Amino acid sequence: MCGIVGYIGNDNSIPILLEGLKRLEYRGYDSAGISYIKDGIGEVIKRQGKVSALTEAVERENISAPIGIGHTRWATHGVPNEINAHPHYNREKSLFLIHNGIIENYLSIKAGLVKEGYEFFTDTDTEVLVNLIDRYIKKKNLSLFQAVRYALNEVEGTYGIAVLSIAEPDKIVVAKNGSPLVIGIGDQENFIASDVNALVSHTKQVVYLEDNEMAVIYKDRFVAKTISDERIEKEIHEITVDADEITKGGFPHFMLKEIMEQPESVRNSMRGRLILDEGLIKLGGLLGYEQRIANSNRIIISACGTSWHAALVAEYMIEEFCGIPVEVEYASEFRYRHPVIRKDDTIIFISQSGETLDTLAALKEAKRRGALVMGVCNVVGSSIARASETGVYIHAGPEIGVASTKAFTSQLIVMALITVLIARNRQMSQIEGVELTKAISELPEKIQEILELNDQIEKIAEVYKNASNFLYLGRGYNFPVALEGALKLKEISYIHAEGYPAAEMKHGPIALIDDNMPAVFVAPNDPTYEKIISNIMEVKARNGKVIAIACNGDSKIDDMVDHVIKIPTTHRMLTPILTVIPLQLLAYHIAVKKGLNVDQPRNLAKSVTVE
Ligand code: GLU
Repeated sequence: MCGIVGYIGNDNSIPILLEGLKRLEYRGYDSAGISYIKDGIGEVIKRQGKVSALTEAVERENISAPIGIGHTRWATHGVPNEINAHPHYNREKSLFLIHNGIIENYLSIKAGLVKEGYEFFTDTDTEVLVNLIDRYIKKKNLSLFQAVRYALNEVEGTYGIAVLSIAEPDKIVVAKNGSPLVIGIGDQENFIASDVNALVSHTKQVVYLEDNEMAVIYKDRFVAKTISDERIEKEIHEITVDADEITKGGFPHFMLKEIMEQPESVRNSMRGRLILDEGLIKLGGLLGYEQRIANSNRIIISACGTSWHAALVAEYMIEEFCGIPVEVEYASEFRYRHPVIRKDDTIIFISQSGETLDTLAALKEAKRRGALVMGVCNVVGSSIARASETGVYIHAGPEIGVASTKAFTSQLIVMALITVLIARNRQMSQIEGVELTKAISELPEKIQEILELNDQIEKIAEVYKNASNFLYLGRGYNFPVALEGALKLKEISYIHAEGYPAAEMKHGPIALIDDNMPAVFVAPNDPTYEKIISNIMEVKARNGKVIAIACNGDSKIDDMVDHVIKIPTTHRMLTPILTVIPLQLLAYHIAVKKGLNVDQPRNLAKSVTVE
């Protein structure tokens, strides 16, 4: 959430900031701003709305400045207007600050500053921080770095910040606690960003700041310290993301590109990890931990949003094939209740970005209590990946569309791999292992077949684009898919949709059904098929419209429903990886037909780094 970018060097910072903001726009897009220092004067340009509005305003000015910072906001405190947009600055316009996160005690800090004569012009929590820094510089005659450090010691909450001062125009001061911050190392130039996507066209060398760390970035070096002012040496990492991977590549939207990429992204998730003839799984990140995981008394999986749906599918997988009890927890709830965590528990945290704040906080709590913590993330080097003792990357490639698609299917692949790995260390036979690994290896081709149904799905979208409610129903492995299908539709088309276990329909949602209510049934050939057919009949008996996802060769369903999308069969445990694809396409086409911005749906942002 919220994009941060900064540059210091010999080049003009302005185009670098604007390009970086564009790349980070998926993290927040309600307003954007930059500030820069030129010839000893600091300036700010901010605009409400998309980065394109800011770019237009900035390009009109034809500015060149060797140091600058930029921000694209996802508002937490104060409406998304120009005044609340970052950067924020002090009265003299000598200090400029951008912030990702929440200053929780901002009201008490503000009250203290107001007593000392400070004035506030915005409704944000962030504005207190720049004034608090100002106060320390003036009262204690501190350097920028020390003033930021003192100010942060008073702050409760989360932050990734970058600060400029006209009194010290040769540096950017950055700090991190809870929100991501990366330093990009160049030649006589350095960068900062909230994620590596903003840096890929400039450098591949990055340094990840950890919580309670700060750094002073000069054009030719950086100095990292803890918030307690101790010098630290930081490791330089090489990033593998390619600039091409974060373009739309000819597609009208990132979301469609990412849906269409799934044969390749799931292939990448399984590459080198299947030992087909022995029915075994090799996951480098779990090496040395396999026995401990297989001997766990319980597995807890904690996640948010779409990743939580992947966790629910994994619960079905692991309980059926490993015989280990599984609990699935919303990370935000898990961390605030009093969960019973034991040392022989394995706790898996799933997060696409690896930065989801609630998930990260839950992980830290679980680790403190002595459980084995495992991260399942997409972004290499992300906070959750780094904080985990052991883990598996899903390798789906950068996901930019706010509505997660390819990350979900790759998470499911990885959870299937983890299931087989554990099960083969317990009671699963080689024959069953061979059967499952083979079925996993065949998924990319099957996904490709489903993507070829795009035109058919678009036609169905045309019929239902004006519906105001949708019901998604599934059973067993496909109950979480019903939840995910409903979430996709809500996120990008703003149509109210609910996902339910199909049998639960009778306990309430059936009252909603009339001839205007489309119900999407996920009905692959699996042990629940006959039951779900009965549920379809119940909807039809009440004149509901039914769209079914069924398997090739199932002709029985054709006459029972209004529309049927036929997909290839697979092992029952893997059906969610296929059944979800038509639901992603259905949501996509409905949103596009409604003229909505599917990559940047209202009120949402990717990578939720605030609570
Ligand atoms: N809490 C700050 C605000 O509302 C920062 C939000 C963000 O991370 O974009 O302005």
